[in-house]
Amino acid sequence: MRLEQDLWYGFLVDVDVYDGVIPVTRHSLGLPPRSCYVCGSPSKECVVKSRHSRPRTIVKIWISLIGRAILHRVRPNGKMRGENSSES
Ligand SMILES: [Zn+2]
Repeated sequence: MRLEQDLWYGFLVDVDVYDGVIPVTRHSLGLPPRSCYVCGSPSKECVVKSRHSRPRTIVKIWISLIGRAILHRVRPNGKMRGENSSES
């Protein structure tokens, strides 16, 4: 969950975590369900109902990535400004 929240591209991270054989879900942690990239509804609903076309989803992801990269001042090497200590 921290990867999803802390990385500028974290909204693309989707890691399945298990405690033994029991899945650790967002619900079990008291967190809201994962949101759809396109409309913000719970993503499972959109996947099950095939609400969005693949091209529309890809465009939405690219727009979101570009917006977040600008917001977080991501450089072409993928690092954020100030992330590399040798840079000023
Ligand atoms: Zn959706």
